[in-house]
Amino acid sequence: MKNSDLIPHSRPAIGQEEIEAVRAVLQSGQIAEGKKTAEFERTMAKRFGAKHAAAVNSGTSALHLALIAIGVGHGDDVILPGYVCTAVLNAVKYAGANPVLAEIDPETLNIDPADVRKRLTPKTKAVIAPHMFGLPARMDDLLYMNVPVIEDCAQSMGGMTEGGRVGMLGRAAVFSFYATKVIAAGEGGMVLTNSNDLAEKIRDLKDYDNREDYQVRYNYKMTDIAAAMGLCQLSRLAGFIARRREIARRYFTAFANLDFNLPPQNPDHIYFRFVIQAKKKGYQWVQRLKEKGVVAEKPVFKTLQQYLSISGYPITEHAWKHAVSIPVYPALSDSQVDRIIEAVKDVHDALVS
Ligand SMILES: *Cc1c(COP(=O)(O)O)cnc(C)c1O
Repeated sequence: MKNSDLIPHSRPAIGQEEIEAVRAVLQSGQIAEGKKTAEFERTMAKRFGAKHAAAVNSGTSALHLALIAIGVGHGDDVILPGYVCTAVLNAVKYAGANPVLAEIDPETLNIDPADVRKRLTPKTKAVIAPHMFGLPARMDDLLYMNVPVIEDCAQSMGGMTEGGRVGMLGRAAVFSFYATKVIAAGEGGMVLTNSNDLAEKIRDLKDYDNREDYQVRYNYKMTDIAAAMGLCQLSRLAGFIARRREIARRYFTAFANLDFNLPPQNPDHIYFRFVIQAKKKGYQWVQRLKEKGVVAEKPVFKTLQQYLSISGYPITEHAWKHAVSIPVYPALSDSQVDRIIEAVKDVHDALVS
């Protein structure tokens, strides 16, 4: 099989509209943060019903500034799930805080509020709740604990939860516009919040230039090039989510009788990832699918417990061993979806008997 026949695990949906928008910014001469970034912030705030939006250069920067603005610092504890990428852990460390890992729910793979409650102490200054793989975390159960919750919407932009739209429920919500995310701008991030105080601090900290006083600040600004792309992609968000759900529906039908666990069939799910949980030989699925021309991945490369050498998290460890993420994104053609379905069925027949 030629490498060009491989169906990638992710690919952004970039059209003529994005190309024209970026070209216009380049021709304008204003390529760093300017009018386009301000327009992207206003459009995001309106779209998600937030009072304030602050654009930054990555989801990691968004998390870092949200933590600092909440007042998290040295010696404080921040609770986060261990089944997430290291970006979330890094942001906690950048703020000088201690990460406290929480278990996940075995079906949703999201942070388990009951486990969070057990780990709360007077030192807990924030909880980070990533809405993993496109499925909203149980915000209602997290919000009544009286600790600020940061919603990490990097994977679930545009989804809904019982309580409202993803990104509107916590003290702040962060987004990522990295190339593989729900909407892509190459790199980029945003913080949404209804708090005037938080928004003011974040705006102050993201830009170091021309200040009366000196304090440590960051250079976390977005570029207008990224903002122009982000605006185009945001206008396509509803279509992107509809296409993701359509592909997921095809997978649910095709895989209904196969012997592995399917992701939750939840109307709030935007299927940023379609994560199956193999019952047997989870470690072989990725390699076998690749031999069939489909790039699948472990949806979390390594758990944070593995990186930090912490044991005692059986549900997280089980998910890591068994979860396989197969391609699901708007840039997939129908014939690619057909090929993915055939490949998954073939590998299933070879590995499960
Ligand atoms: C991608 C991601 C991040 C980090 O975003 P970057 O823009 O890559 O810094 C944080 N949290 C989650 C859940 C992510 O998926």
